Amino acid sequence: MEVAETIETARAAVKTARGKGEIIGLVPTMGALHIGHVSLIEAAVKKCGFVIVSIFVNPTQFGPGEDFEKYPRPVEADMDICREAGVNLVFAPKPGQMYPCEILTWVNVEKLTEPLCGKSRPGHFRGVTTVCAKLFNIVQPDIAFFGQKDAQQAIVIRRMVADLNMPLEIVICPTIREPDGLAVSSRNQYLDRQQRQDAAYIYKSIEKCREMVNAGKIETREIIEEMKKILRQKSSIKIEYISIVDSDTLEAIDRIAGKALAAVAVRLGPARLIDNIMIDTKK
Ligand code: AMP
Repeated sequence: MEVAETIETARAAVKTARGKGEIIGLVPTMGALHIGHVSLIEAAVKKCGFVIVSIFVNPTQFGPGEDFEKYPRPVEADMDICREAGVNLVFAPKPGQMYPCEILTWVNVEKLTEPLCGKSRPGHFRGVTTVCAKLFNIVQPDIAFFGQKDAQQAIVIRRMVADLNMPLEIVICPTIREPDGLAVSSRNQYLDRQQRQDAAYIYKSIEKCREMVNAGKIETREIIEEMKKILRQKSSIKIEYISIVDSDTLEAIDRIAGKALAAVAVRLGPARLIDNIMIDTKK
């Protein structure tokens, strides 16, 4: 496995692989790798002959007062995970490599970035789309892999790629969960034991949504009310939002007819945690 800290060395490695006719796959991450990331790497290894994992805690997607400084950076453990998973190249640039000077050119997807996480994290998605556009330009992957765990991010990236005719395919992989249902996340390590136990209620609320939809309930207000009741059973959980939205436009809907996204964001002690499920009443 090769490790590149500079754009130049990453590009050289990709050029060699492409010369051999390999399909290039990219898994963009912020490191602190876990089984969720590994599932993306495995999907990439299946489809691509040359798999790149980028590890970059991207400063432009963190707001003031967010966890940029304290975000975990277990470099050696991440390298071991990548090596074991069959990664060919880790691209781990320092911030000065990605942002050598003040950035004046941003990629901003409109509308889709306004609701849900966009409300409480202004500028977050602009940072995400800009860094992904940069990564796509640096390694020019044929396929990039993202997780359903960050549903809004996946939808926003897909739209950026479509709107800007970027020549790559975006693959979205299912959310990997802990045995109690909690979506695996690098931020779960911020939780103490009690908070970690309480965090299972996020998934319980989402399961409630699925249950109600399966039972034929389609009024989103009614479903959201029941989801709230579950989260309120734990006083440690502060609800940021519970929304059921159209899965293409991310606009709130009154009734579920066909595809929808149910998304939750909460604060639990020092962590901000998100989760979601896709619903399809026509399936
Ligand atoms: P992050 O390092 O948190 O920026 O995540 C990098 C990629 O891994 C993103 O596409 C995430 O959606 C994805 N990811 C994070 N957690 C999970 C999970 N539990 N299951 C599947 N994908 C995930």
